[in-house]
This record gives sequence, structure tokens and C-alpha cells, in this order.
Amino acid sequence: MTAPLLEVRGLAKHYPLKHGRIVRAVDGVDLALAPGESVGLVGESGCGKSTVARLVLRLIPPTAGSIRFEGRELTGLSDSALRPLRRHMQIIFQNPHAALDPRRTVFASVAEPLVVQGLAGRDLQARVARLLVQVGLPEGFLWRYPHELSGGQKQRVCIARALALEPRLLVLDEPTSALDVSVQAQILEFLQELRARLGLAYLFISHNLAVVRQVCDRVAVMYLGRIVEEGPAERIFGAPRHPYTRALVASVLPPRPAGLPEAPLAGDVPNAAAIPPGCRFAPRCPMRMDRCTREDPTLSGGTGHRVACHLHEAA
Ligand code: ADP
Ligand code: MG
Repeated sequence: MTAPLLEVRGLAKHYPLKHGRIVRAVDGVDLALAPGESVGLVGESGCGKSTVARLVLRLIPPTAGSIRFEGRELTGLSDSALRPLRRHMQIIFQNPHAALDPRRTVFASVAEPLVVQGLAGRDLQARVARLLVQVGLPEGFLWRYPHELSGGQKQRVCIARALALEPRLLVLDEPTSALDVSVQAQILEFLQELRARLGLAYLFISHNLAVVRQVCDRVAVMYLGRIVEEGPAERIFGAPRHPYTRALVASVLPPRPAGLPEAPLAGDVPNAAAIPPGCRFAPRCPMRMDRCTREDPTLSGGTGHRVACHLHEAA
């Protein structure tokens, strides 16, 4: 395998609450992305996806674990040491309405990272105009304000700004969830085309499996702060192994692969402040065995398809 662009190991983010309780938002995540690869991170709301995104970009410091970007350890770096690396990874948030300053023109928003790099005058304007064209917006939009744009157009402006410094990794946190359904499809198609054109790697976060299936080469399924299954997209959707993945796939994607459960996820929405002992999925698992409530399974398996489940451990 080529050297990873991003490699995350044992990543954790714990938030202390009152009375000694702790929210284990991210609780031991291992993940790698090759250059130009598109990896989907899926799971129910609250499982820790956005926290992983923020950790990877070092917008928040981890409680434990390692984050390497192009072989370089990011944890422990000071803000000034991080600054030159930051341009190589950018994040797109769910809500483009909140991501843009309503008082700034499109030009000002997209130009900002370039101005910080010292670009000015005609060069700056030409560069910003090119970025707009790159995201499929007319140059005339340069002088518009956010309220003059649709949701999809705003998200394209956010993408243009993220592309300004020619990153190698885009972290996309539910980038289409806040958009109208008709616009979602256009933005997804655009994101795929953009990746093919620029050779970017995507960490594509979504609770929507259908979206991830469309965009991603590889998929990591997250449950209560951990990755419980990871593999090529066609394996995750065509031959899911973890009972949680099987339930997710069964619930959203007809036609279903043979042998998937009829009634998917039973039980309460899990609580990251009260993670059960043993396998964290055990309380909701239709296949639960005795040992599942005692022993925490590790993510294992060869050929790039790994699963954390006692049912699938080598005998
Ligand atoms: P997702 O993006 O998958 O919906 P998040 O990463 O936003 O999940 O959140 C994971 C868990 O961490 C949730 O239980 C959430 O309530 C909790 N959490 C996130 N941020 C904080 C915080 N700053 N303080 C306490 N708990 C948090
Ligand atoms: Mg989120």
C-alpha cells in the first residue's frame, strides 16, 4: 500500500461531565486514508463523527492517540507549528449558511486564506475568479453576499474557499445534509467530479449510507465512539459483517443482500456517557452471545475488510 496521507491511531476525545461522569465521544479510533482516496465515515447521530473531523484537523485537542499527516505527527504540535500544515487539510461543514460571514462578499470570503498568504491586487482577484469557476459558479458571483445565494451556491463558495490553498485532504462533515434534496444530488456529483479532477482525498462524513455509497471507495462504520467495521465500499454494502452494519444497510438500501435481519436496530439510542462493558453494541445486538457483554472485541481481519465482532473472530 502507498504511504498513507492520513493515519489515525487510538484516537480518543473524552469530555468530563459533572459528578465524575465522562462523555466518551471518540473512544479509540484507527483510520487511514491513502492519497486521493475517498473514505466514508458513517454511523447514527451522536456516534462521534464530527468529533473525529475536528480532531483530525486539530480544531480540538485529543485526549489520547496519534494523528499523522504525510507521516508527520500532529498531536502535540503548537498552533504556529500547525499553521503551515493546516493548508493541506480543509473542512467543509454541514451548514453553509453558518459557515459564511453574512457581511462579506463571496470575493472576501474566498480570498481570505489567500490574503493571509500574502496574495493581493489583480493576482488575488484572478485567483479567486478561477476558484469560483472551479466550483461551477459564474465570475459575476464575486460581488454577491451570502443572502443572495441559494444553499447549494453557498456550499460551493465554502468549497472554493477550502480549495484556495490547494489542500490534499478535504474533510466533509455532512456536506449535503442541510441542502434541498434536489441540490444534494448536484453537489454530490460535483464533489465526485472535483475529486477526480484534483486528486484530492476525502474523509466523507455522513449518517446517510446511500450518500456514502455513491461517493466513497472505502467505508468505516462508527458506533459509540469506535469503528466497528471498515472495508471497501462494495464489501460494506454487499457483504456487511458486523450486526450493526447489517442493520444499517438493511434499513436503508433495497434490495437488501440476502440474510439480513428484517427488524433492524432495536433498543435505545446509545449514550456516550454510559458506554456498556464488553462489546458496546451488545445491548442492541440480535446476535449477542455471553462473552459479548464481557469482552470488548478488537477491529481485526485481513484483506482490508476488518470487523470488531466476536462472531467473526478467527477460531
Ligand atoms: P456525530 O457527529 O456523529 O453526530 P458528535 O461527534 O457530534 O457526533 O458527538 C459525539 C458525542 O459527543 C455525542 O454524545 C455528543 O453529545 C458528545 N459531545 C460532542 N461535543 C461535546 C462537548 N463539547 N461536550 C460534551 N459532549 C460532547
Ligand atoms: Mg455530526
